[in-house]
Amino acid sequence: MTAPRVGVLALQGDVREHARVLTDLGAEVVLVRRPEELADVAGLVLPGGESSVIDKLSRAFGLQQPLRDAIAGGLPVYGTCAGLILLADRITDGIVGQETLGGLDVTVRRNAFGSQVDSFEADLRVPAFGDPPVHAVFIRAPLVTEVGPGVEVLAALEDDRIVAVQQGALLGTAFHPEVAGELRFHRRFLDLVRAA
Ligand code: GLN
Repeated sequence: MTAPRVGVLALQGDVREHARVLTDLGAEVVLVRRPEELADVAGLVLPGGESSVIDKLSRAFGLQQPLRDAIAGGLPVYGTCAGLILLADRITDGIVGQETLGGLDVTVRRNAFGSQVDSFEADLRVPAFGDPPVHAVFIRAPLVTEVGPGVEVLAALEDDRIVAVQQGALLGTAFHPEVAGELRFHRRFLDLVRAA
């Protein structure tokens, strides 16, 4: 099978970590900073970082509309943390004027764990993956506070707060598998790319 050619949005954030995981899984990785580069990929990862900065840069680089068009056109996209915020149709606690790309019919609360618990790790049961549980690293993470009818919840914390979702070819996690050696979400994303 030929290697799928996938992009990592490379405006800000943990671009390198995602590129490494995707390369390890056999994908050809393109760093996307311009619309021409986006046109050339069969799937896209939106990394973790700071969603308000990625939002501003995507507009400054003329990428916001091309990204929205690509998502609406069915491009498989995987967003982690800030990337999940960018994929959400609705956001609460964004900075003034913050926009998202949208695509996932969810509401996401930015920095939902507050300043007291900036970062934590948890072992998550993800029924779609079975054993072992996912070791999830949360860093100033968002939460999914509302999901539309077409959205599948892939994982929640023990108190049922939602932290991983999928809607068609769009995948989002509030945590960072790419920093924890967890490959199953990226594998699922590449399966979506191959199926598209
Ligand atoms: N708090 C960041 C934001 O609002 C997300 C943090 C992360 O991606 N690790 O975008």
